[in-house]
Amino acid sequence: MLRHLRDAGPRSRARIAVETGLTKGTVSSLVSELVERGLARDGEVERGGAIGRPAQSVELDGRRIGGIGVEINVDYLSVLVLDLRNSVVVAHRVALDVQALAADVVLDAVTDLAVRALDECARLGVVPIGMTLAVPALVDVEAGVVAFAPNLHWHQVGVVAGVVDRLAARTGARPGFPIKVDNDANLSVLGEFAMGSVAGTSDLVYLTGATGVGGGVIVGGRLLRGAEGFSGEVGHIQLDPAGHVCGCGRRGCWETMVGLAGLFRMAADAHDVVRNPSLDLDQRLEVIRRRAEAGEPRTLDALSRVGAALGLGASVLVNVFNPRALVLGGYFASLGAYLLGPVMCELRARVLALDIGGCRVELSRLGFTAAARGGAHVAFETLLDDPTVVAVAGEW
Ligand SMILES: [Zn+2]
Repeated sequence: MLRHLRDAGPRSRARIAVETGLTKGTVSSLVSELVERGLARDGEVERGGAIGRPAQSVELDGRRIGGIGVEINVDYLSVLVLDLRNSVVVAHRVALDVQALAADVVLDAVTDLAVRALDECARLGVVPIGMTLAVPALVDVEAGVVAFAPNLHWHQVGVVAGVVDRLAARTGARPGFPIKVDNDANLSVLGEFAMGSVAGTSDLVYLTGATGVGGGVIVGGRLLRGAEGFSGEVGHIQLDPAGHVCGCGRRGCWETMVGLAGLFRMAADAHDVVRNPSLDLDQRLEVIRRRAEAGEPRTLDALSRVGAALGLGASVLVNVFNPRALVLGGYFASLGAYLLGPVMCELRARVLALDIGGCRVELSRLGFTAAARGGAHVAFETLLDDPTVVAVAGEW
């Protein structure tokens, strides 16, 4: 019933009974229990409607519990804590040249960031319910292991055990909530599906616009994972056999053409400020945007080439999945004004179905927070499966 309230929104007890097939008595007693645990509260009075007379609606509460999403990416680490209503409680991002550091050092930094978020939660009276780590990698979700992250140079890194051990060492106790790891594109598409501009769209393709380019795919309302959980590695589709060498060691992968490294290489010389990994990504992208606005030819040329290559690869995905929406995330969204034109031009030329199969192309409004938001959102699964993991109010 908690899941139903979250997914369907505020509604009366009578309506919940009709929709879930539970008796009114059962619904009332379950609602009382959720209210006692701070997970639901009385909302506005619902007027009329199909069921008849005005009724008090019930809505999600959960302001005092937090789902934590942590993203490890090539250029930064970020943490985001959401409450059950998807409001942001804590958000931080730090620039970090992850490629230049050993995995152990990165996990130390991840732990620092997690501890900072946990301290802030404690100060705000928010109880952590779970943590999900997002990594641009092939991930063995069950084992909590990053199998291979080409752009981080990680092979078989026990990310979950590493963070659990470090948190235990730092705080004196093992964390009292589950910690998981998943692929960043998967978590991003789940974030978009839950709270993005295309929320609830059941056929969805999301592209991470970062150093790596990954795809998160939702088909018929469900995340597509593949047999071993390794689907969505669209950045390694070879689109230019004579192209640049990719982080994966192969040549001409799509992400060499449209990933951040490709954009920076085309737009600027090696010592240019936009290629300085110690600067925050938004600042570097802002420089690109300002140059584009000023009509700087090299920047505009780089953006139009990236846009065309983005459309070329996207046409493959639209032909395969026929999504209702294609969401461009990360930097594809922040520089979307310059990329969307060439993307649409390529899609119209290359997708077989009329009107690109009814697919809308959207710029993500979640930007670089999509993966951490998705991670924070799915951290509530434990609670949705069993709301009694949260104590009754007053027993915190
Ligand atoms: Zn590759």
